[in-house]
Amino acid sequence: MLYCSTRGEEGLYTAAEAVLMGLAPDGGLFVPASPWAPVSLEELADRSYPEQAAAIVHPFLEQFSAGEMSAILEKAYGGTSFDHPAVAPLHRLTDELFFMELWHGPTGAFKDLALQFLPQLLRTAAGKTGDRHTAVLLVATSGDTGKAALEGFCDLPGTKVIVFYPLEGVSEIQRQQMITQQGANLHVVAVRGNFDHAQTGVKALLGDSALKEKMLRRGLRFSSANSINWGRLLPQIVYYFSAYLKLRCNGEIRAGEKVNFVVPTGNFGNILAAFYAARMGLPVNRLICAANRNCVLTDFIRTGSYDRNRPFYRTISPSMDILISSNLERLLFELSGRDSARVKGWMRLLQEEGAFRIGAELQRAVKGVFWSDCADDGETKAVIGQTYRRYRYLLDPHTAVGLAVYNKYRSATGDATTTIVAATASPFKFAESVAAALLPPERTAGLSALETLPLLAETTGLAIPPPLRELHRRPIRHHTVIEKEELRDSVLHYLGLSG
Ligand SMILES: *Cc1c(COP(=O)(O)O)cnc(C)c1O
Repeated sequence: MLYCSTRGEEGLYTAAEAVLMGLAPDGGLFVPASPWAPVSLEELADRSYPEQAAAIVHPFLEQFSAGEMSAILEKAYGGTSFDHPAVAPLHRLTDELFFMELWHGPTGAFKDLALQFLPQLLRTAAGKTGDRHTAVLLVATSGDTGKAALEGFCDLPGTKVIVFYPLEGVSEIQRQQMITQQGANLHVVAVRGNFDHAQTGVKALLGDSALKEKMLRRGLRFSSANSINWGRLLPQIVYYFSAYLKLRCNGEIRAGEKVNFVVPTGNFGNILAAFYAARMGLPVNRLICAANRNCVLTDFIRTGSYDRNRPFYRTISPSMDILISSNLERLLFELSGRDSARVKGWMRLLQEEGAFRIGAELQRAVKGVFWSDCADDGETKAVIGQTYRRYRYLLDPHTAVGLAVYNKYRSATGDATTTIVAATASPFKFAESVAAALLPPERTAGLSALETLPLLAETTGLAIPPPLRELHRRPIRHHTVIEKEELRDSVLHYLGLSG
């Protein structure tokens, strides 16, 4: 399989090149250049997670041998990195509603499913292209990608990682996880700004050709661990198939029966993986895009108009506090019949005016697959409380946005199709908000986030996940704070290219 850019640049790239580069030279995103074969569900049933993953991702990475593929996947999912043998187990709430728990990895968020895979893939890819440069991974994070990337790339030879996170835009536990990270090849920097500032800064650096030349002379090359990298999106397709096959295997659905997926969404990466899964033959009825108060995607799906000129809100689901959803570009490319000229036009408008509008036909295509609504912090907390009291099942705020939006979908449409909600983070990662949703204010008043961890464990009888248990004992190793205009200088500094 070869890859092309969503913005129409002529070149074709191998899979290894696409994952090493991260972003196409014209600023577009890499997508498969030719149609892909459907996945055979029968053949995947009864297989382990790494085996299912191999069958799904290998056709996109043909350049890698079967042996290389299974080594990468066994290392990612076969060992002890995930604390559940199923990797992404299903939890049944009612006859029609299931949660696929994507938070059993080393950092407690779904990003681990991709970031346990991508570092090994990049390393093998560098071997294939004969690339001896040090890969510099610039990461903009709304909280979870940063830690998952740090964990995935920690001390990996031939790589350097620089993570930028919004100083006040992540949960206290997310911040602690990042600033206590060990690893000689890693840097963590707080930015006075929001996620969009960090992501825009990173994308500008990735597209800077003068800087690229300068770096090459020093044996350095940029890459990306954000979901703009195809190598991150690809492994996310796997769990949609895996969850479906579990339902099928347990007799919850008939062969070929369609299901809905609800995905708490920010950068549109996770839900885009569900869209690709559907395009690969997974029986999907509706993809329900759940947003928090930053509901730019809900408005887009409903009206066909994307407009980021609006207030940016900090919410209790910080990993979804995003107004520029990068991966929407890939969706527009596919649904417009791969019309890269139009995609390029919309992206130019987005950059210059902060807004664009798609035509009626394309809007119908979007609505044919997606449904969207949003939930504010009050609704999110109410759903956490209700779900715990009624079912003794604990949701993190992102997953709770998903359930709140599903409830709205259900009342708006009456659709009783079996539905799977992506549970994107461990509730302990957002212990402060979750404890506040369950307990009267006097129980949580004055407690730091780290102090609410044991309180939440005691209240619910659940164990604090191992990666968060020792957090309060770990020394802080990363203190740097920069202004959003200093992102470039900061990168030059860490790469020894200043002056
Ligand atoms: C990243 C993240 C999201 C949003 O996923 P996208 O792929 O950016 O849409 C939702 N929930 C959690 C917990 C996350 O970490």
